[in-house]
Amino acid sequence: MFYPVEDSIGPHSKNSLLKLNCINFCKENMKSPSSNVEDIVALVKQRLKPYLQSSYMASELVFSGNFFVDGRFRNLEVGVSDGMIDSIGKSLRGERRINIEGPVLPAGTDIHVHFRDPGETEKEDFKTGTISALFGGNTTVFDMPNNHIPITDSVSFEDKLSRVRSKAFCDFGLYSMFIGNNAELIDQRSSGIKIYLGGSTNSIGLSKIDDKQVEKLDSNNKPVIFHAESQECLDRYRTAYVGTLRDHNLARPEECENLAVEYINKLKIKKKIAAHLSSPKSVSIGSASVIKEVTPHHIFLNDEMPLGSWGKVNPPLRSRSVMNELFELYLAGKFDIISSDHAPHTQAEKEEFNYAASGIIGVETRIPILLALFSKKILDINIVVRTAITNPANIMDLRKGRIALGYYADFLNFDKGEIKRIDDSRLHSKTKISPFNGFEAIFPKNVIMRGQFLVEDHELIEDHLGLHTKDLKAANP
Ligand SMILES: [Zn+2]
Repeated sequence: MFYPVEDSIGPHSKNSLLKLNCINFCKENMKSPSSNVEDIVALVKQRLKPYLQSSYMASELVFSGNFFVDGRFRNLEVGVSDGMIDSIGKSLRGERRINIEGPVLPAGTDIHVHFRDPGETEKEDFKTGTISALFGGNTTVFDMPNNHIPITDSVSFEDKLSRVRSKAFCDFGLYSMFIGNNAELIDQRSSGIKIYLGGSTNSIGLSKIDDKQVEKLDSNNKPVIFHAESQECLDRYRTAYVGTLRDHNLARPEECENLAVEYINKLKIKKKIAAHLSSPKSVSIGSASVIKEVTPHHIFLNDEMPLGSWGKVNPPLRSRSVMNELFELYLAGKFDIISSDHAPHTQAEKEEFNYAASGIIGVETRIPILLALFSKKILDINIVVRTAITNPANIMDLRKGRIALGYYADFLNFDKGEIKRIDDSRLHSKTKISPFNGFEAIFPKNVIMRGQFLVEDHELIEDHLGLHTKDLKAANP
């Protein structure tokens, strides 16, 4: 571990910590034959910056509270300067002090949302989407590129970025979409690349990707996230009429997902994410190199529930027994990340089941549902933090998702006793109908981004302060 948290890691113990980190760092890095000395010196300087900056000065702001640090809650003080954590200890010096009541977690990152902006802002826009995200305890979201006009090159990327950046209430990144032949055109500011192996909203499924295009995609060194349903398989099961959630499940069976995961296994891409897995078999098939994503709807909802078209989603909700198996796998830590796949549609588009658009809202309920399960001792907090907070930030190379030196001071804070039933009319998305209506949840009381309260005592108190993640000053360590 590079930044150990001991009883006092403030200005007082920094010299010993510096020494320890140097020793650990050199041990870890000198072994590698490819490391050259200049690189190591640069890296040491970068990693020690937080200590050096604050050795002789107080932090701008000191938060005291019950912080989740290195796997457990501890009563600590966290010093913040310029939006980043610059000291952690029992007793710190600070220009301004704020006490936070109740447990404090790093704020969440949701790497899979569809905010429909630009093009379909009647469903959602970047303002309502990012406000929803904040009320759900997230300070960073990554938005999918299947806009009405998909984001496939620099022109469409720039157009989207310029339209959404002034509306963002939390930090955000944007994906680009690979449509079979545009690997060279992907905008370098993209946070990741989305590939639909099976068709869904505003997208056509790609059955196979040309080897040269795969090579080019991988050379971008960006995460590639796959909608994992095989189009050839979906075509085999296509039926003329789908009237219930069970029909929809049968029309897009688990087999199609399993085939897609086998295909993803073989692709020579460094960072591959299999999105919204809905079949337990996909988890065992998926190789260790595949990052496995699950959604709250696949572990908490099933095709026997009376949700009508509001439960229609791709891949479909499965049977009750499959849902239970997926939840067991989640509890056992078999999924790397949990994302909302927040995908709003208007009431009119959900009217008749057979023609209804697929998608469920969830950016505001993802973490609150998990917090209620933690409070009821059903779910280990380490699983929640790893899958909803730390791993998603890490995958996106953000200095977020941990309460540690050199990380952004992004926190969410909640009251363990404040379990409420979700009332979807009170959610902040433009789409007001959630299949999680009535589920137990704990909504964060306070949400803090870069040291600033954005949600205070369940009220939004700040205007759009969200930044494009590429404009955040610090990269991941
Ligand atoms: Zn999606």
